[in-house]
Amino acid sequence: MPVTDPVKLQIAQKKLLMVKICRKCGARNPPSAERCRRCKTYNLRWKRRSLQR
Ligand SMILES: [Zn+2]
Repeated sequence: MPVTDPVKLQIAQKKLLMVKICRKCGARNPPSAERCRRCKTYNLRWKRRSLQR
């Protein structure tokens, strides 16, 4: 079931993209995280890739 409402799509994108990924273990962390909650490394990157459709 595709989401057609642009507002909902935007919210969904934000939820999906506003996350930090650990480069070491690949865990997802909250956007406010400075370090990984799983392996405690500071090696985090933003998951920021807008959906291109
Ligand atoms: Zn980690």
